[in-house]
Amino acid sequence: MIHHSETKASTRVRIALIGAGALGSECCRQIVQLPGVDALIESILLVDPDILTWQNIPLSRVYQELFHLDPEQCIGRPKVLILQSFVNRYAPLIEVEAMAAPVAEVGWQELRARHILITATDSALSRMETALAATTLRIPMLDGAVHANSAGEGRVSWFTGQNDHACYSCGMSDVSRARLLAQMASPSNGCERLTPALAMSSAPPDTPSLEITAHRMAQLLCEWTANRSGFLTGSFIVQSGELARIAAPRSVTCPWHDVSTAELIELFPDKPFRDQFPRQGAHQGEQCFELQWPISLVASCEHCGKESRRLLRLAQLRTASCPHCGGRALQSDQTVSVIRFRDPLAKLTPRQLGLPDLHLIRLRPTVQFSPITNGQNEKETKRATAS
Ligand SMILES: [Zn+2]
Ligand SMILES: [Zn+2]
Repeated sequence: MIHHSETKASTRVRIALIGAGALGSECCRQIVQLPGVDALIESILLVDPDILTWQNIPLSRVYQELFHLDPEQCIGRPKVLILQSFVNRYAPLIEVEAMAAPVAEVGWQELRARHILITATDSALSRMETALAATTLRIPMLDGAVHANSAGEGRVSWFTGQNDHACYSCGMSDVSRARLLAQMASPSNGCERLTPALAMSSAPPDTPSLEITAHRMAQLLCEWTANRSGFLTGSFIVQSGELARIAAPRSVTCPWHDVSTAELIELFPDKPFRDQFPRQGAHQGEQCFELQWPISLVASCEHCGKESRRLLRLAQLRTASCPHCGGRALQSDQTVSVIRFRDPLAKLTPRQLGLPDLHLIRLRPTVQFSPITNGQNEKETKRATAS
């Protein structure tokens, strides 16, 4: 039996906001100032690894306001903590959690508990990392972006999270997607330096573009919260109040649509992987855990040639500096992307491997290749076994 109070509580939405920079903070401000926001939003999870610097202040109305109130509490602190205090100030009934980390380090059980994932970041990497979670967990993703050096130009996209609809990655060109995936999942640096692609934003966007884009995002969130259906995947080009909608088809080359939610296992952070396989005994060898993002165990430096042993996601390795010479050209020599029962790494716990707590991991069958035979041999084998 459902009590009235429970029904009412369940109509409020839990959101995750990825990005607390110029657009993220403005988006947060506009959400908090929605009329009747307490009846719409139950909780906000804020995710961003960056700390606030002087350069961030002129671009954000939120940070400007809080800086004038208490400068000591701003510069050098994680952006998400400052944004959290802003929400607490203006919408004290909304529960706010802050995680000063990249979205790839947020456990998927935490993300699964949200009704919608909102990306307001200038990092294509964070968007891709969020998009994989949204598509796998079947959660809608609302994504906003602002063009640098433009007046009132921005884009707002809605992805339903349904497996047969387009995701953020579907909308990219094959070349851009391949570049980003290489950054996230390829142990080798390849023949080009991919690091600059991480810092995409060339010039800061102007205030009207930020405000109009964030406003459209808050509006869409509000419309969806009221109805929660009838939303199709597509993008809106925001140009000084004018909206042009572009529908996005699912791309056949996007690799993220084949994971079933039934394959996701809740991980215990302190229990070795080998004790977490659901099928024990004779069937242990038939399954493996697949990491969302491969982790480098050992890397070598292209500059000084020395080796370093650190657990780093490959996307982190791309921007990490060599502990010996400080150069930024590390190649992974040993990478883990799946964990089988018999792997030595299966003795480790998820926490020892640096995975987030409250995580979900994909369990998939180990690929079994049958011995290559031609028809003649098969017949011979049958004859041999029959006699
Ligand atoms: Zn896709
Ligand atoms: Zn080095």
